[in-house]
Amino acid sequence: MSSECESCCENGECGQDRSTCGVETETLLKKRMGMIKKKYLVMSGKGGVGKSTISVNLATGLALEGLKVGLLDTDIHGPSIPTMLNLHDVTIEHTSRGIKPVETLGGNLKVISVAFFLENSEDAVIWRGPAKMGAIKQFLEDVDWGELDCLIIDSPPGTGDEPLSVVQLIEDVDGAIVITTPQQVATADVKRSITFCNQMKLPVFGVIENMSGFKCPNCDEVVHIFDQGGGKALCDEMKLPFLGKIPIDPDVVRASDKGKPYIYHHNNNAGAKVIESVVAKIVAR
Ligand code: ADP
Repeated sequence: MSSECESCCENGECGQDRSTCGVETETLLKKRMGMIKKKYLVMSGKGGVGKSTISVNLATGLALEGLKVGLLDTDIHGPSIPTMLNLHDVTIEHTSRGIKPVETLGGNLKVISVAFFLENSEDAVIWRGPAKMGAIKQFLEDVDWGELDCLIIDSPPGTGDEPLSVVQLIEDVDGAIVITTPQQVATADVKRSITFCNQMKLPVFGVIENMSGFKCPNCDEVVHIFDQGGGKALCDEMKLPFLGKIPIDPDVVRASDKGKPYIYHHNNNAGAKVIESVVAKIVAR
């Protein structure tokens, strides 16, 4: 490796194809990650609890605060983040500095998802562990994230290859944001996510209880469709910060399907206020 290559991650001056120029990938990965101030992994024990929704809204909220934010969708088998941000039919650019992430919100939010690399959005990705780890490594080291204040990493449910790869590759993830729904069936699985964090020495930034009660629009009665209080009880038991409860809100579904972030388009709703409070806690760091 020549001395110029030491800085190519920053300035890309040599113009060579990074895959053949001989830069040691470990160095490149460390350089890329060193340019990102804070990294948070969004996890859950179960699928369908709103992890991607919350990742998108946290990243959007941080970008609206004027921060430079990255959003990495490591849900290789079910990437939904492009839909939630209305990033359809995007063409990924490769430059001498690496893969260019897709930019939105005036360039404040940079997004990478496996969905951007599929010929057809309905294609199924059938990969085993090592291939998934390879893809995540590529997303971290071949993507030209540039300088970021914060990278939000959305992982698929559970404690499998994807979160493990992220934690092993990045080494200094600042915290896990754990999403649960209130009922015991979900919190029992979330405990496994927390055990995973403890084993990997990954600090838990906090737990969000999503889909926590539904307020009837006609009579204002709150119906606890998925029971109540599970997230808070879990935090009390495991001595973790409880970040708040997001109610079931049809506006979340509509906003996600239309690719219009809920935190922006429904900022007076109770759920948006909870997400804003988590954004404020991250900004305060
Ligand atoms: P996960 O990433 O955990 O699999 P998603 O974020 O994809 O879950 O959410 C699953 C579905 O639930 C989506 O249709 C989303 O719009 C909806 N959803 C998430 N949170 C809420 C909420 N608080 N109220 C209503 N629907 C929600």
